[in-house]
Amino acid sequence: MSEKNSLANTIIVAPHPDDEIIGCFEQLRNPFNSLVLIYSGDTDADRRETVLELKKQLDQIKIQLFQNSIPPTFLNNENVFFFPDPIYETHPKHREWGNMGESMARQGFKVNFYNTNMTAPYIHEVNNPEDKKYLLDKVYPDQKSLWEFDHKYFLFEGYCRWIF
Ligand SMILES: [Zn+2]
Repeated sequence: MSEKNSLANTIIVAPHPDDEIIGCFEQLRNPFNSLVLIYSGDTDADRRETVLELKKQLDQIKIQLFQNSIPPTFLNNENVFFFPDPIYETHPKHREWGNMGESMARQGFKVNFYNTNMTAPYIHEVNNPEDKKYLLDKVYPDQKSLWEFDHKYFLFEGYCRWIF
């Protein structure tokens, strides 16, 4: 992997609010990342509100957008993208965005894939799961039942990059 330019953005594509923390907590917590978060354009108004709390928690978030595709302004080879894994994800919306990520990877963009159901073979334990859980509870209290009864959502995560 090449050295990251300071102007480069880390662009996390989260089909739903909460996917960014569940799938990309380590990217969110990396103080060297300049973060752009892209959520699905059809996210309803209530859930749009919730993501504002995440920006309050993390200084390195530049912008949070609701889009149905990647805005052209971000399509350059400096930016590093994180998409849901088109193979290991189960939610149809995650797979849809994952397919978009695959197509961008095949065009030569820097694309990583992440997994939210923790079934992918590249999953590892996060170093500070209590911090991941804290952030989930803080930003998405309404979704709490998901990780409260199944700790994999804050214990693990993982990334892969495809080679062509
Ligand atoms: Zn989702």
